[in-house]
Formats: sequence, C-alpha cells, structure tokens
Amino acid sequence: MCADKKISPGQESGAIGLEFHGALRPLLQGSLRMMPRLYHSLEHRTSIKDTIESFTIPHTEIGAISVNGKSVDFSYQPCPGDQIRIYPLVPPVDPCRPSFLRPKPLPRLRFLVDVNVARLRTYLRMIGMDTLYQPQWTDHELALLAAQRGCILLSRDRGLLRRKIIEHGHLIRSEDPIQQLAEIIAYYGLSGRLNPFSRCIKCNALLQPAAKEDLLPLLEPLTRKYYDTFFRCPGCDKIYWPGSHRDAMEKMVIEALSLSRILRK
Ligand SMILES: [Zn+2]
Repeated sequence: MCADKKISPGQESGAIGLEFHGALRPLLQGSLRMMPRLYHSLEHRTSIKDTIESFTIPHTEIGAISVNGKSVDFSYQPCPGDQIRIYPLVPPVDPCRPSFLRPKPLPRLRFLVDVNVARLRTYLRMIGMDTLYQPQWTDHELALLAAQRGCILLSRDRGLLRRKIIEHGHLIRSEDPIQQLAEIIAYYGLSGRLNPFSRCIKCNALLQPAAKEDLLPLLEPLTRKYYDTFFRCPGCDKIYWPGSHRDAMEKMVIEALSLSRILRK
C-alpha cells in the first residue's frame, strides 16, 4: 500500500525522489554521489528494497527508510510521487536488538566471512569473535548459512549482500585486513567486548588451558624451556602459548583498536 503522496515541483509525474544519507552516499556510483536527490522512473511495481538495490547499495547497509515522512519496511512498494529518504545503519550497530527493519534480533554475535575478506576471519577470531569461514562455501551457501545459523555476513561483494534471505550483513569498505578489523570493531561497537586469544585462529573453537607436562613431547626445546602457560584447541589440537607470534598479534589488535577509534569519530 502506498504512503501519502506528494509530487515535488519540477519532478516528472510517475517518478519517485530518493535521498541517500550519510555513509550510503559514497556507495552510489560515480556522479550520483554528488546529487542530493535522485529521481527514478517506476517502470513496474517493485519493492523499495529492490529499488534501493538498483543503485548497487545492499539492503544490509540500510538503517531506516522514510516515505513521505513515514517509516516503511523493505517490502513497501513505491508509488509515483513518493519522496523517499534512506538512512544508513549508525554505529554502534547491535544486531542483537530488534529494530523496525529487522524485528528478529540475533541471539548472539556470530560472524560469517566471505572468501574476499578471508584474512579478516583470522583477526576476528584473534579478538575472540565467533567467526565461521570455509573457502569452498558458495554465495548460495553463505546466504543460507547466514540465515539459518543467525550470522552477520561480512563481504565486499555487493551482489551477495543483496540476497533477500540475508538479514544481517555488512559491506566491508577497506581492502586492508587490519583496517577491515578496525571497521568491524567500530561498526559493531566491539572495543569493550574483546576477548583476545580465547579462540583458535585456525578452526574457531574456544581454547582450553593445557598442562605443560601433557604437552612436553610436542614442544620444541626452546618453547619447553621458556614457557609454562599453554592452551590447546579441542577442535584441531593446535597448541598456543604466549610467544613472539602473540606479541605481533597484540600489536595488530592495538593498531586495529586505535584505527577503530578514529573511524568512530
Ligand atoms: Zn583449532
């Protein structure tokens, strides 16, 4: 059903007016970014979700839609003369709380990482975030998993994030993995919820403390000599200890946290 209609002066009848706000504007193609309002001809009846996505902006990035001053959801079908304002999700985004556009909240934060941001899964696991990843998963499988397992799908692929079945997702803007981690920390407000080095970076399982004497045959001589605290992954048996690789990872986490503070401003 159409919301109340007003046709603005200068606008062709039959068209709708669209304003993309905030972080959505840079996602528009080329010169469209410079235009405060876009006019769009309605050639056939379609949902506002599909109309917005015809401008290559996935619905996962949308926080609110207003038509002639009234909030609508993704199923709304635009009518000639509609004046539509589209707003981004505003950090810190909490998918575990219901919202008008996403009334079914996630039970917990769990990420699903697309192969085009593969390194991000290591860094998310490094800070303790539950993160699923398999390089062989197809787009169809990723979308299905995101819906069935209640995951936030992270990708740089706009086409994938446009799939209707995906409720929670985020289009990763940066190409650099550390900046991608900073982006996620800032976007989902994770800085106070980090639990570094609690998960296996290889398989995502939660690490368990392990007694040094049980691991002695598996340790290199120098590791055996200098370290006493060990953790073991119950999923893949990988052994962890606070060695030089961990110092390097700590530096990465600190860098990402510092970048995330800049992004929040
Ligand atoms: Zn593991």
